[in-house]
Amino acid sequence: MRVEACALNHLDIWVRQGGRGPSLSMPHILGNDVCGVVEDVGSEVAGLERGQRVILSAGVSCKKCPACLRGDDSQCREFVIRGFQIPGGYAELTKAHAADVYPVSDLLGPEEWAAVPLTFVTAWRMLVGRGQVKPSDTVLVHAAGSGVGVAAIQIAKLFGATVMATAGSDAKCRKAIEIGADAAVNYNKRSFVEDVKQMTGGRGADLVIDNVGQAVWEDSLQAMAVGGRMVFCGVTTGVSVSLDMGFIYRRQLTIMGSFMGGRHELLAALREMERGRLRPIVDKTFPLRQAAAAHQRMLDRKNFGKIVLIP
Ligand SMILES: [Zn+2]
Repeated sequence: MRVEACALNHLDIWVRQGGRGPSLSMPHILGNDVCGVVEDVGSEVAGLERGQRVILSAGVSCKKCPACLRGDDSQCREFVIRGFQIPGGYAELTKAHAADVYPVSDLLGPEEWAAVPLTFVTAWRMLVGRGQVKPSDTVLVHAAGSGVGVAAIQIAKLFGATVMATAGSDAKCRKAIEIGADAAVNYNKRSFVEDVKQMTGGRGADLVIDNVGQAVWEDSLQAMAVGGRMVFCGVTTGVSVSLDMGFIYRRQLTIMGSFMGGRHELLAALREMERGRLRPIVDKTFPLRQAAAAHQRMLDRKNFGKIVLIP
């Protein structure tokens, strides 16, 4: 595959910094979210042609174990992440198994398609598979400007829910509302708990979608309705929290972890995207040679939506 665009994820920064998980074999190629055109196909590949625009799955699984067969690809024991355990898309050319290749239309450009796989498959699983979002829900989405945040706001609205977003600046709050959030709170100015309570007539959020972790844990619990669910897929501010088990059982809260997603979840998100009902948000593109500057923009939390590298 000839790479046309590769989106950044926090994953790239963690892999580059090292110290998490298996050690890498060098030279390592970063980059999880890849869009490009088919350069060549193996002799037994059907349904893919040279020159066709495609995206690649964020993760690769064995496709035959019980987890894979029931659609929980990211629970497969052989699951690996592109750009981490296998080479990624910071490159002119990359390769993939045909089953991990998804043809896309001309509805969006390559930099937009590259902004789709990891965050939309993750957010779809969080909201639909794990969170069971429904129209009567008020959903609290943290870090509205993050890739997962942008996807989560749109997916929650697609299912008819009411969305309260949080973000670290007024400008990001405005953008969160532009892409569909019903309200947004700047968490650097005040706690979101009061706003959530006001919005729900004192009830609290039915579903919390989080990738921030430690910094919002206490307030998220306080903002949850009795019987509420929390799904988290990341912990960018830290992993350690204290837990009042009494509070959890008395209020009948459900706390769930979620990790990436499966083929059917990516396909579901892609179907809605081809219908124009979901839209990737590209923050800024950089030439691949300026990957360091692109990483710095993400570290500085300046982005709203995805940062994309163009080889
Ligand atoms: Zn498997």
